[in-house]
Amino acid sequence: MGYLMGYQGLHRNHQTGEVLAQNVQVCTMCWKNFSSDDAWEKHWDRKKPRGQQCLNPIDVGLVAIRNTKGATIYKTRGKPRD
Ligand SMILES: [Zn+2]
Repeated sequence: MGYLMGYQGLHRNHQTGEVLAQNVQVCTMCWKNFSSDDAWEKHWDRKKPRGQQCLNPIDVGLVAIRNTKGATIYKTRGKPRD
């Protein structure tokens, strides 16, 4: 029935209206899109356990990609460096 066709499970970023694959996480504080939990967790400032703060994804080493719907999604690099 085609349920393995990749974009079967789309959802939207409720703030920006961007169309996202099912596995993409939307941060409910900064409304950025992340390709995985791992990428999403990386943009939190863990030194502030009480006041969790969103960091600029680029500043924490994530890379921005665009999906086929034109949404910007942040993902981890293939391998961490340094
Ligand atoms: Zn955030």
